[in-house]
Amino acid sequence: MHSPASPCESRRADSDYIMSKSSLNKIKKQLLEQKERLEKEVGEIAKKGKRGFRVLFKSFGSKDDDHAANVARMDKNISLERSLEKSLIEVDKALEKVKQGKYGICEICNKKIEEQRLEILPTASICMKCGKARKG
Ligand SMILES: [Zn+2]
Repeated sequence: MHSPASPCESRRADSDYIMSKSSLNKIKKQLLEQKERLEKEVGEIAKKGKRGFRVLFKSFGSKDDDHAANVARMDKNISLERSLEKSLIEVDKALEKVKQGKYGICEICNKKIEEQRLEILPTASICMKCGKARKG
């Protein structure tokens, strides 16, 4: 992967690829790193069980009057865990698409998702246009 992209590359039948292999590899690496990071973060507040993640109830203080604070923190952890889990699912989905060779295709219009968009948001599953349309 050290050779720079040569202009001759365009002569190759690359149409099967949604993007160049090197870009795809870069994004795959990014996704795997993101997955690792997310799993680590989730692991700190939740435990993976048979039915998904369960947020751990940690006692943050020994006094009884800390209970309200603990509950508040637990609530915060639950919502944090939910958003982390959602991101993890998105990363997994993107990685699965990479495996199937479908990465970078918009789920709505089936057109290529802009590479710049994928660089910023590797888990994007719809293109910029559809993203805007969805938001209204
Ligand atoms: Zn689209």
